[in-house]
Amino acid sequence: MPTLRSLLDERVQEADPRLYEKLDNGRVRCFSCGHCCPIPEGQPGVCKVRYNRGGTLFVPWGYVAGTQCDPIEKKPFFHAYPGALAYSFGMLGCDLHCAYCQNWVTSQALRDPTALSPPLETSPESLVRDALDQGAKVLVSTYNEPLITSEWAVAVFKEARGTRRAHRTYSRQHPPHSQHGHVA
Ligand code: SF4
Repeated sequence: MPTLRSLLDERVQEADPRLYEKLDNGRVRCFSCGHCCPIPEGQPGVCKVRYNRGGTLFVPWGYVAGTQCDPIEKKPFFHAYPGALAYSFGMLGCDLHCAYCQNWVTSQALRDPTALSPPLETSPESLVRDALDQGAKVLVSTYNEPLITSEWAVAVFKEARGTRRAHRTYSRQHPPHSQHGHVA
């Protein structure tokens, strides 16, 4: 039976070149969140889902850990489209490991062997179609820390833009300065 690590290794693509740099000795530095990890060849960053393979940074792609359509006030966004439905999606892993995390089974899936949650294959097009079918006005990247899956969220939000849906990231921390333009 394949391990979660091997399942996730098949669901990646190269990082946005604006979100990492190549260092000496085959290392790379990721700028997707405030950790700014220098990552040696063959190793993941603190989040466990962005990793260095052959001097290239690979990042999560093509799956979700879960989706849910809720009233936007539950996110909680206050006075943003009051009464609208918000469609949430999230992936696996996190750059934080808070003991009180309510999404432990997905956020710590690669850190804690008892936190098991399989990836559900999907595409930006299917997520947006599902959100529209459920009547959502807003799409939200959430559940784990959205900054660690920035490329995926941007792809989903770009797909949603054509449908005139709003989009939000529900992040708990500050991106490094270099990422501000990417997630805005
Ligand atoms: S997203 Fe992951 S690899 Fe990138 S800086 Fe943050 S913890 Fe490190």
